[in-house]
Amino acid sequence: MQSGIKSGMFIGSVVLFSLVASGIFLFLDNDGKEIGGGDGSEEISADAEEEKLRLVEYTVEDGDTWEKIMEKIGVDWNLGLEFLTISENAHNLASIHAGNEFRFLFDSKTEVLTSLEYDIDDEEFLIIEKKEGGEFGVDVREIVYDTKIVSGRGVIASSLFETAQEEGIPPGITLNMAIIFGWDIDFTSSVYKGDSFTVIYEERYRDGEPVKPGKILTAHFVNGGKDFYTFYYEDPSGYAEYYNEEGREMRRQFLRSPLDYIRITSGFSYNRLHPILNTFTTHRAIDYAASSGTPASATAAGTVNYVGWKGGNGKYVGVRHANGYRTGYAHLSSYAKGVYVGAKVKQNQVLGFVGSTGLSTGPHLHYEMLKNGAFINPLRMDLPPGKPVEKEYFEDFYTKRDSLMEVLAK
Ligand SMILES: [Zn+2]
Repeated sequence: MQSGIKSGMFIGSVVLFSLVASGIFLFLDNDGKEIGGGDGSEEISADAEEEKLRLVEYTVEDGDTWEKIMEKIGVDWNLGLEFLTISENAHNLASIHAGNEFRFLFDSKTEVLTSLEYDIDDEEFLIIEKKEGGEFGVDVREIVYDTKIVSGRGVIASSLFETAQEEGIPPGITLNMAIIFGWDIDFTSSVYKGDSFTVIYEERYRDGEPVKPGKILTAHFVNGGKDFYTFYYEDPSGYAEYYNEEGREMRRQFLRSPLDYIRITSGFSYNRLHPILNTFTTHRAIDYAASSGTPASATAAGTVNYVGWKGGNGKYVGVRHANGYRTGYAHLSSYAKGVYVGAKVKQNQVLGFVGSTGLSTGPHLHYEMLKNGAFINPLRMDLPPGKPVEKEYFEDFYTKRDSLMEVLAK
C-alpha cells in the first residue's frame, strides 16, 4: 500500500506539471483542492504537491549551453547528460536559444531534478518527465493559449510604429502588418500623414498572463488614398496564407524577411519598436536587430554560392536564386548544418545563426539582395502578383473574406 501511495503521489506530480504547462494550473485554488492522479485511482491535493516540488524558471541567456545551465541551477552533470541524451529523440537540448524559457521541477526533499519543460518556440515546448516506472519520457507538445480577438486602428501622424504604439497595438502585430502589406506598400519611405489602418488580431494568454500576440486575422490599410486589404485564410486542405481581396497571396517569390519577425520582436522595448537598425539607403542592405543565435533563413529557394569569412561581413552565406536574384546573410555566429557551396536550399531553410562577426558593433543580421549583380532594396522589390487561392476553394474564400470584411467595418 505504501508503494501504491508513493506511485500515486508521483503520478500526481506529473499531472501537476502538465497542468502548469497547459495553463490550467492558475485556476487551481490553494486550499487543498484535489486533482486526479494519472489513472484516476489516486487523488493528491495540490497543496501536498506544491510542498513536494519546487519550480525553477530560467530564461536562456546569450552564450548559455545546456551544460552551463545545469551548472547555474545546480544540477549534477551526470543527470544533465541523461536529459541531454533523452532530448535527442524529440528536440535536442544542445540547440537552445537565448530568450527562450525553461521550467525545472525539483523534488523539494531530495533536491533532485525530476522534470523539465523548454519552450522551443511560440507554438511548441519540450517536456521531459519521469514516468511511473521511474524512466524518463520525452515529448514535444503544443503550447495551449487562451485567445481573445481584438481590433486596433489608427491614423498615422508620423510613423506607423509610433501611431500603433500610441494605440496600444503590440509591436509584433505592427511589424506583421508591415510585413504582410510590405510587398505592396513601402513602409520605409511611402507612408503619409493621414494614412490609416485597422487590424484584427489575436491576443494570447498563457497561465493568465498576456504573452506575444497570435495571428493577424485581417487588416485594412489606406495608403495615399489607396485601399489595401489582407485576409488570413486556411483552405480546406490546411494550407494557410494571407490573401488580398481578390484571393491572391500577399507573399511572392521571396519571404518578407530572413528572420522570424514575431520571435525577434518579442524582447523589444519601447525604445526600439522594430528590428530594422539600418535601412537600404544607408548601406544597400537591411540590418535587423536580433539576439545572437536567432536562426537566419533563406528568403527564397536557391543554391548556396558562398559560405565563409567575407571581410567586414564576417561569417557570410550567399545564395543564388531563380530570375537573377542573389541574397547574402552577414555577421553570422555560425552556419547551419547542410549549408555548403553548391547545396540546394529551400525557402525558409535555416542557413546560419545571428552573430556579430566581422565589422559589427553588436548582434544583428545584415541582409542584402542583388538582382543581376546590382544591389536592390529587399523591402521595395517589385514582383509579379502572388499565387491565387485554389479554384475549388474560391467560394469558401469569398465567404470568409466577406465575414472578415464585416468585422473590419465594425
Ligand atoms: Zn548592415
